[in-house]
Amino acid sequence: MKIAVFSAKKYDQDGFSQWADASLKFTYFDSRLSQESVKLAQGCHAICAFVNDDLSAPVLKQLSVMGIEMIALRCAGFNNVDLDTAKELGIRVARVPAYSPEAVAEHTLAMMLTLNRKLHKAFNRVRDDNFALDGLLGFNMHGKTVGLIGTGRIGLATARIIKGFGCKLLCYDVQENAELAGHYTSLAQLYQQSDIISLHCPLTPDTQHLINQDSLAQMKDGVMLINTSRGALIDTKAVINSLKSRKIGYLGLDVYEQEADIFFEDLSEQMIDDEVFKRLLTFPNVLITGHQAFFTKEALQQISQITSENLLAFASGLRNGNELAN
Ligand code: NAD
Repeated sequence: MKIAVFSAKKYDQDGFSQWADASLKFTYFDSRLSQESVKLAQGCHAICAFVNDDLSAPVLKQLSVMGIEMIALRCAGFNNVDLDTAKELGIRVARVPAYSPEAVAEHTLAMMLTLNRKLHKAFNRVRDDNFALDGLLGFNMHGKTVGLIGTGRIGLATARIIKGFGCKLLCYDVQENAELAGHYTSLAQLYQQSDIISLHCPLTPDTQHLINQDSLAQMKDGVMLINTSRGALIDTKAVINSLKSRKIGYLGLDVYEQEADIFFEDLSEQMIDDEVFKRLLTFPNVLITGHQAFFTKEALQQISQITSENLLAFASGLRNGNELAN
């Protein structure tokens, strides 16, 4: 089976090279999948796509005309796929539902600790032979209230670490997890009581701009907000206003609403035209990483293995449980 891999980086190729054999032939394209680049998949049976690839109806229709029967997502989130259109066209879609949730949970904690203890500033200061501590004052995590929105695989892994810090844990989810019984509360209580709020729910029509002017108004002054899930969970302009008014004391983003044109590329020699993104970067209490929370050796290994298993199952006419119900 020939598979066109879009948004392919060297680390993707290294991962998939272990699984390529007579039955799986991968062809790698650096380009993001779009209406313009979709023609690269000509002659393939399946495509492999990532978080910022465009799998909207127009692209799916072109894929269908080319005879593509399967999309193997090498990620957990699938908000970029028009599942209804895929179903109509008879294109099967599989994902990697669970790969090392600890990778994302640990990055979430790294963001909390970096923002709190200002490690990014300390790193630069010490290199400048500046050992003054002014401006580096942090707070004890122990005893603080951490609110997690979404307690699936990543939220649960984050909750386990947070408990180890001696924090008070508040959770909100539309489906409660028995392991976190006793920690659930309403969204309003979570907003009002949390010193740190971290987002771990998927992007759906219900969660789009969950963090907006109204929800921000309910939060504690100086709250720390962390988003390692999907950019559009946050109304970025409302968040910028809350940074300006000091309502938000710390902001950690691994994802950004308009990240598709920015993340995963080296743009150091180019201009970034996104004024909202550039404004975010001006705040000293904002830490942005470029969708790297998943990026550990263990996660990459699992992503390439499970994606290959999904492709092999499809090639054998089987369904292995990782297909999206479409
Ligand atoms: P999951 O499906 O295991 O858990 C998601 C949880 O969110 C579920 O418990 C679900 O009930 C809950 N949820 C759904 N709608 C909700 C709502 N309206 N309010 C509150 N909770 C709601 O998913 P996961 O593996 O924990 O991943 C969570 C998200 O993390 C993914 O959707 C993906 O967008 C993101 N992610 C980011 C990275 C990264 O590198 N930054 C990597 C992997 C996943």
